Amino acid sequence: MENKLMKAAFEVIVNNTSDLVFIKDQDLIYRAASVPFVKMTGKTLMSEVVGHNDSEIFCDQELANRYVSDDKRLLSGGKDLIDYIEPITDDNGNARYGMTSKYILRDSDGKAIGILGITKDVTTEYLARQRYQQELRYLFELPKDTYAVCYIDVDDWRIICQHRRHISEGTLQKSDTVEEVSSYALESIADKKSDASEFYRSFTPQSLHSIYSKGRRTLSFKYERIMTDGSLRWIQNEINFLTDIDSGHLCVMLSARDINEIELEQKKLVEAAKLDAMTMLFNRETSMKSIKSVLKNESDRQHALFMLDIDNFKKLNDTFGHRAGDEFLIKLAAELKSRFRESDIVGRIGGDEFFALMRNVSERVQIERKADDILELIRTLSAEYTDINLGGSIGISIYPKVGRELDELYSRADIALYKAKRNGKNSYVFA
Ligand code: GH3
Ligand code: MG
Repeated sequence: MENKLMKAAFEVIVNNTSDLVFIKDQDLIYRAASVPFVKMTGKTLMSEVVGHNDSEIFCDQELANRYVSDDKRLLSGGKDLIDYIEPITDDNGNARYGMTSKYILRDSDGKAIGILGITKDVTTEYLARQRYQQELRYLFELPKDTYAVCYIDVDDWRIICQHRRHISEGTLQKSDTVEEVSSYALESIADKKSDASEFYRSFTPQSLHSIYSKGRRTLSFKYERIMTDGSLRWIQNEINFLTDIDSGHLCVMLSARDINEIELEQKKLVEAAKLDAMTMLFNRETSMKSIKSVLKNESDRQHALFMLDIDNFKKLNDTFGHRAGDEFLIKLAAELKSRFRESDIVGRIGGDEFFALMRNVSERVQIERKADDILELIRTLSAEYTDINLGGSIGISIYPKVGRELDELYSRADIALYKAKRNGKNSYVFA
């Protein structure tokens, strides 16, 4: 009965766990494995793993030999291995971090008769920890253009440490309390109605906890800072939320970077090239002009015009605030641009609408792949905002199949886009 019960319990674990679990006998033959373990090996059937050894299961013989020699050492040395981090692969062969424990199984006489292995995917925790350590290092080695970093324990409401240096006249005053940090910040922000001002005006443990509980982990503001000599410089202020590994307290790390030169350069570009000031993509007018010239000069090629509208974007604004909406658009714009070729044209039409011309594309699958890629990008970016259901709807019209004039391509892509919306959103439709 006991045995039956144990067996049934083990089967439940093996069939339901998301961990990689296996049992090997003393000859290092697999005797049982969890479904995720079988998937990780690239096999589909339990019988392809159970009854086999490592060199039969893993294509990579070097890896198989390493497992075998580790396990032999374990069986002969007689000590369990607990919680060590190792690189593993997931079902799709992607690199992940696993936390593995291996226990020696013994019979009633204490003789080793096998091994129980359990590996948890700890990639998220591991990367968070790495990031945390990087952030801490940041406190001691400031990047070139960063002039101040301040690490605050929100739960104790005190400054844990701060670091600053003079990169121009009028660097921050030294603060001894968190209240001083926020009041000095407020004094130095030129635009008292800006997001940065608003943030520092309500800089309290309650409001920081409330931001954190909505799922935000980073905030960032640009503002003009009044220096002690009265001059103005553009500053990028980053706020990172962290959980202190030792105390478990919520902490924030504030850092300030001087971006004056970059900002002034960009402002010039915006004026000269008519970029969209928020995303730095081409604005509607400039994109239309560039697309027209491509259609004219490369009229013998096939091109694809994409129109993208974010799904349920208003809800993001309503739930997380307009500023979070802006940040999303800025991030999306940068990522969108990086997913197209340098010679393609990517622009913002306005609001949450973008368009892109994929130039000189002969195969329809390339266009489909790009559309999938964009939808996947939006899914990834929206992971930070829970319960919003952000997505993307895309309308695509192909030159010259759908039309030879931009106006026609544009309006047909627009119709296709609204078809995608009506079909339930988060999809693409060809005109
Ligand atoms: P749908 O799924 O049908 O696309 O609905 P939606 O909620 O995405 O809203 P819709 O596309 O109809 O309108 C876009 C909204 O985006 C309107 C406006 O509230 C908001 N918006 C427009 N421009 C900006 C901007 O520059 N910043 C922010 N944060 N929001 C903007
Ligand atoms: Mg929308």
